[in-house]
Amino acid sequence: MGLLFTMAGIYIHIPFCRQACNYCNFYFTTSPGNKDKFIEALLHEIELSKEYLEGKKIETLYFGGGTPSLLSSSELKSIVRKLESHYDLGGLKEFTLEANPDDLSAEKLKEFIELQSSGLNRFSIGVQSFFDEDLKYMNRAHNSAEALSSIKRMQDAGFENLTIDLIYGTPTMNDEHWHQNLETVFTLGIPHISSYALTVEPKTNLDRKIRKGENKAVSEEQAANQFNILMEEMRNAGYEQYEISNFAKPGKYAVHNSNYWSGKKYLGLGPSAHSYNKVARRWNVANNINYIQSIARGIIPAEEELLTKAQQINERIMTSLRTMWGLDLSNFDSQVSVWIKEDLKGIDPSHYYLNNDVLTLTNPGRLFADAIAASLFVTEEQFL
Ligand code: SF4
Repeated sequence: MGLLFTMAGIYIHIPFCRQACNYCNFYFTTSPGNKDKFIEALLHEIELSKEYLEGKKIETLYFGGGTPSLLSSSELKSIVRKLESHYDLGGLKEFTLEANPDDLSAEKLKEFIELQSSGLNRFSIGVQSFFDEDLKYMNRAHNSAEALSSIKRMQDAGFENLTIDLIYGTPTMNDEHWHQNLETVFTLGIPHISSYALTVEPKTNLDRKIRKGENKAVSEEQAANQFNILMEEMRNAGYEQYEISNFAKPGKYAVHNSNYWSGKKYLGLGPSAHSYNKVARRWNVANNINYIQSIARGIIPAEEELLTKAQQINERIMTSLRTMWGLDLSNFDSQVSVWIKEDLKGIDPSHYYLNNDVLTLTNPGRLFADAIAASLFVTEEQFL
């Protein structure tokens, strides 16, 4: 048991992309000029952060971004080696690397095969769609043929533990194409997918283009309809919707992300990365130059927020309700559980189940997950 509590995850943010997808609001740059300095800073940050996680045993490692597949195997190895010098990666359950289809050449796959000895055992591929018109709308760097051939190449090389990202609600995508995208996933036998509605975040290129009338606007109704198609098709194909946006064949859940949702500790490294140690959240500056300069002075450029009791409970409500395991009210003080049950009276009963104190959402409820969670939130005043 003790061992279980000390296990934690590490997330590494690689802030470089080949091309800017127009909907993206993650932190990245398309100028690779600082890549060497960034790697140097990242190795130094591993050193500086070595006391953040109390335990040294790491259960999951996740390279996200940005586009981690832009790094060479020697760069990736140097990061893993540095981690190994401060943490125990011997019990690593999952080591995921995000990759874009345009990076997955035969050469690159050879490098990945070498990295398997360091524990690399899962890839998250940013496919988004198997149709060119959707990929063009999103300004992705790959086309549909590359999406397909890259997955086949991965599978032929023996990489079966794949997850792909798919986006629905794109104005260029009709329901028929959405069905076909899902059919392609089933035909390829991909064990896990993460799927999100296209959202237009303020200040993104997509936002600007829609405002100028250069791109068609996104329809909420289309997105809601395609979310329903997604839930139904995935269920019929034998996938479990274990989190609102995540679907897995039985047992193929993402360990790293599941640990976020169940409130385990994690350390985030690299610009814009977030960390959580059950007491506070901290997040690194989202700027490569500032990050590199600060780390060179021996200072992690991060802001930190101590979490109040109400914030900790609300995070648990928000993340648990999104999972198929739901929110176990018996884990809270009886008073908190009473407050939540009182708030439930204001929610449409067709949107949730409450069985043995475990609250889960129905399919219609999943469309309103965030709003339902927010209406159950406790307030600071309730604890005064
Ligand atoms: S590849 Fe990913 S991180 Fe990079 S711009 Fe596109 S969506 Fe954003």
